[in-house]
Amino acid sequence: MTDKHSFLAKLKEFEGREVGTQDGADEVNQAMIRHWVEAMGDQNPVYTEPDVAAKTVHGQVIAPAVMLQAWVMRGIAPRPSANPSAQDDLMALVESEGFTSVVATNCEQEYDRMLHLGDHLRNRTVIDSVSEEKATGLGVGHFITTRVEYETLDGEPVGRQMFRILKFRPGTGRQAAKAEPEQHDRPKRPRPAITLDNKFWFDAATEHRLVIQRCSGCGVLRHPPRPRCDKCGSYEWDAVEAGGRGTVYSFVVNHYPQVPAFDYPLAVGLIELEEGTRLVANIVGIEPADVTIGMSVEVEWVEHDPDLTLPAFHPAK
Ligand SMILES: [Zn+2]
Repeated sequence: MTDKHSFLAKLKEFEGREVGTQDGADEVNQAMIRHWVEAMGDQNPVYTEPDVAAKTVHGQVIAPAVMLQAWVMRGIAPRPSANPSAQDDLMALVESEGFTSVVATNCEQEYDRMLHLGDHLRNRTVIDSVSEEKATGLGVGHFITTRVEYETLDGEPVGRQMFRILKFRPGTGRQAAKAEPEQHDRPKRPRPAITLDNKFWFDAATEHRLVIQRCSGCGVLRHPPRPRCDKCGSYEWDAVEAGGRGTVYSFVVNHYPQVPAFDYPLAVGLIELEEGTRLVANIVGIEPADVTIGMSVEVEWVEHDPDLTLPAFHPAK
């Protein structure tokens, strides 16, 4: 391999180089917009109903801003390879040093204006930046950012997209390093996302109390915790303590992928409490293969580590 310094210098020569331009196959059109919003589940009529759109600030139908990239996409046909672009040359160079794996990491778009039916776009792609060598969870690699400028065929800029990928050496990530000797150091169980809305539930668990949120307006119980009652709309609530008995409403037994904090096979149940609410919890004290739907279960408390106590359920005695 070449030394890192001269390799990076070679990579840096690509910054600012033009990759090429491409014209959209079609103008911005209602049919593509309709398919897009149907796929996304976006029912805003400004995208599809001219009468409604005419009364908005836009005065006419607009395309969803995030469709920007769609108007100049090549489609699934492979790119002609006769004349390699600067991007092809850059990829070949990084791969020659073993950075053969790729993952897209982020994509940012900026819009200069909304697009309307009949706009016809062209894009121009430039290699924006190539990072120095970085050690990431996936592996050692280089971040490559391409910038795609979008404009109309008349040359009016309408937006741009920064697209970043990581080209990394397979097998050099933290996961790979961990496979060696440090296995005695078992990682902690993933932390729950504790918010102002659910903190009371985890606090009660620390005290080995299984609680259920109750609407102060109509008295209905709800879980998981949330700020507002689905039934009456009240934001007022308190909590009641559950008896800790229930049945297995449903369950799965996980075998793979294996996260180091857990033992496998791992039985995870959807437990229906006698009070009527359901919660997700591990099923313990039984071979996972013997768990059945409808089985009666009781709560027990598992102190996973000093900061995390969670309920689990074992077969009722
Ligand atoms: Zn209510």
